[in-house]
Formats: sequence, structure tokens, C-alpha cells
Amino acid sequence: MNIVIVGTGYVGLVSGTCFAELGNNVICVDNNKKKIENLKKFIMPIYEPGLDDLMRRNVKERRLSFSSSIKQAVKASDIIFICVGTPSKDNGDADLTYVENVAREIALSMDSYRLIVDKSTVPVETGKWVAHTVKMNLKNRKGIKFDVASCPEFLREGHAIDDFMRPDRIVIGAETKTAVDLLTRLFRPLKTTLVVTDINSAELIKHASNSFLAAKISFINAVSRLCEKVGADVTKVAYGMGLDRRIGRSFLDAGIGYGGSCFPKDVDAFIRIGEKHGCNLSILKEARRINSEQIKVFIRKIEDSLWVVKDKTIGLLGLSFKPGTDDLRNAPSLEIVSALLSEGAKIKAFDPQAMPKARTIMDKSVKFCADAYKAAAGCDCLVIITEWDEFKSMDLTRIKKSMKQPLIIDGRNIFEPRTMEKMGIKYLSMGR
Ligand code: NAD
Repeated sequence: MNIVIVGTGYVGLVSGTCFAELGNNVICVDNNKKKIENLKKFIMPIYEPGLDDLMRRNVKERRLSFSSSIKQAVKASDIIFICVGTPSKDNGDADLTYVENVAREIALSMDSYRLIVDKSTVPVETGKWVAHTVKMNLKNRKGIKFDVASCPEFLREGHAIDDFMRPDRIVIGAETKTAVDLLTRLFRPLKTTLVVTDINSAELIKHASNSFLAAKISFINAVSRLCEKVGADVTKVAYGMGLDRRIGRSFLDAGIGYGGSCFPKDVDAFIRIGEKHGCNLSILKEARRINSEQIKVFIRKIEDSLWVVKDKTIGLLGLSFKPGTDDLRNAPSLEIVSALLSEGAKIKAFDPQAMPKARTIMDKSVKFCADAYKAAAGCDCLVIITEWDEFKSMDLTRIKKSMKQPLIIDGRNIFEPRTMEKMGIKYLSMGR
């Protein structure tokens, strides 16, 4: 099939590359011309494991190409996926400007039937507005037929290709036989459960899923604070809870809370959607409150363990909002760095992938290091922010020897407290 992806970011680039890998002809479009020029030269805008190789192969085999012209791309398409950003407005609403712009541009470029599918995370009833926008902009070509559908994306950065190729389910929100048939045909090779439903339900599935996962993280973080008060171990509590199949173990890792480009904005947007329809999603307001408190709990741990923060050297391990990505959008590291710098700390940092992006947005005084050992050397305290695998296998004896004092504060519970105690390292973690 001929697929056009509009918005070549984390979702668009992964989806486009994977659709090509499944044998479709794909054009990835973006209005960021520099990004498109770079992609044509195989310069990746993001780090995502395996994406570089898969993209190169599909370009070489002529199934995947890049363009900054929606008009040309739409001409060669059967299905157009909207994959642009839906950031938060100041009041928490999703900003749908990019979605509306793309819907308008698609309409102006259409000359015959097209299926327009929204993959961006959007508030319920966006499909209705996309259809309205397309209709209004067809102008004197009113006879041209089109369908709008919703296929929300559930990939996780860091595992995006595997998640796309082996999804738990695919949600198809579509309301005509043509749209359902086209999308069923497109996704059939993925051999997973297809949830075919109306567009509003599909849109709600995405927001409800992300909000539920965010609430699950906040729940275990609230429990972790209780664990600290009574001397219990939250990792044991989570293990015991997670064995119950009704609960499940995933998203029960206590830590410094959720960040990233999705959960914070999607929770905000879902709360606002509820309010607009007279439904108080107060459970999510509490989840959001716990999340913003959790990072402050962590920062306080660092402050209390150093007594005076001013002029102390603090090494940070991990800057991206989670392992496997270089994404720094709403990463907890940003708040931690600015809090510690405002108290006069000297910051050294290492991240396996996110340092090029961090250099462009973090304070110039942050010293970026070539590896974890260099970040730890001479520090009063080493802080683990992102649980990259390589940190789990560090030589802790070497780390201890190189530090001014052996103090590790772990926001992700990657080490065993007893092991650290035996090694003579003062070790503070979350909920243990
Ligand atoms: P992103 O910011 O990485 O990419 C969006 C791209 O759209 C940018 O490259 C931007 O230049 C482009 N764009 C904006 N307006 C355009 C236009 N008019 N024409 C062409 N291109 C345009 O965003 P993302 O992280 O890929 O997220 C996209 C959507 O998918 C969001 O709604 C997000 O919530 C959702 N989502 C993201 C993830 C994730 O892990 N990142 C997972 C699931 C769903």
C-alpha cells in the first residue's frame, strides 16, 4: 500500500520505517526542512535502538523516502497518517494546532478518495473535527470522498520497533467499511488482536491507557513513601503485588516519577477533557500531584545527605527521561539539575545517548563527562537518575575509590542496599 506519514518525529519515523519494512511504499513528510535534508543523508534526529539500520535498508530498497512537501506525498498515497505533536497548552488542554494544520494541508492536496488516520494522541472528538476541517477545505472539490480514522500509537521509546512490530493490540477507530477494510489489510501482517471500534472510543483508549499507567506509577510512589517510614522494602511490596495477575508487575517501579513527552501532557489533557464534559477525573489530579511531589522528595534526599549543597560536586548518571532514548522532554533530570544549580552545586553528568541534546538545553556550567567513572570522580555524591543497563554493571569499587566520599543516591533502585552496605558505600534509594 502507499502510505504517507505526516510528522517525522519519534512516532512518525518509527511507524514509517516499520510500515516500509512490512512491504509498503512509505513517504515520511515533515515541515522541518532541515530534518528532512538530514534524514536523506541518514543523519538521525533521534536515538532509537535499531532504527538507523532499519531505515537505511528500507531507503536503499526504495520502499521509504522523505519529503517536505505534503502536496506531492498526498498525491502518491492511499492512507495518510497524522503523527504530529500534540503538546500541552498552559491550561493543560492538548494544543491541536498542528493536527488542524495538517488536516487542512491534506484537504488542499487531495484529488480523489483518501483515508486520513490520526496516530497522534488526541482528545476524544478530534476525529470529528479533522473530518470537519477536511470537508471545509475541499472547497470546490466537494465531490471528493474521504474517511477519517483513529489508530492511536502505543510504542515506548527505547523499544519502539519491537513495540510496533509486536504490539499487544492495534486499535482501529473507523466508521466505514472502506476504512476498516483498508486498515485491517494494512495491519494484518502484525498478527495481533485488532480492536475495531468507533473513533471516539479509539481516542479514549489511548488517553485512558496512558492516564492509567501514570496513576499506577504514582500509586507505587505513594506506597514507597510509606515503606520508608515503616522500614519496609517497596521492591518486595511491588513484587508481591505484581504476581497477582489482576495487578501485574509492570509500572510498579518506585522512583522519581514519570516524565517524558507523553504521560505529563496526556494526564493534563485527560483531566481537562473530563472537566469539559462535567466528569471530575480527580484520581488523575492526585496522581499528578504525587508525581510532582515525588521528584521534590528525591531532591530533598540529595540535599539532606549533603547537609550544605553549595560548592558540593554532584555527579549525575542518566539524563534522558528513561533508558533507551535520548529524549529529554519533561525529563526529571532537568528539574534536578536546575534545583541543585540554584543551590550552588557543581554538576558533572553522563548519559549514554542524551548528552548532545542536553548540551543544547542545560546550563553551560554542567560538565559533561565521557563515562560514568569520569562523572563520579571527585564527587561528594553520585546520583542515579536514569536506569541505563550499563550503570547496573559499573565497577562500584572503582567508583567508590574515585569519589570524595562514597555516597550514592539512587532514584531508580538499581542496586541492592545490603550489597552497598557491605562495600562501605552510603546508599540511599526510593522506598527501601
Ligand atoms: P515529535 O515532536 O517527535 O514529532 C512531531 C513532528 O511533526 C516534528 O518533526 C514536527 O516538525 C512535525 N510537524 C509538525 N507540524 C507539521 C506539519 N504541519 N507538517 C509536517 N510535519 C509537521 O512528536 P512525537 O513524540 O513523535 O509524538 C507525536 C504524537 O504521537 C504526539 O501526539 C504524541 O503524544 C504521540 N505519541 C508519542 C509517543 C512517544 O513515545 N513519543 C508514543 C505514542 C504516542
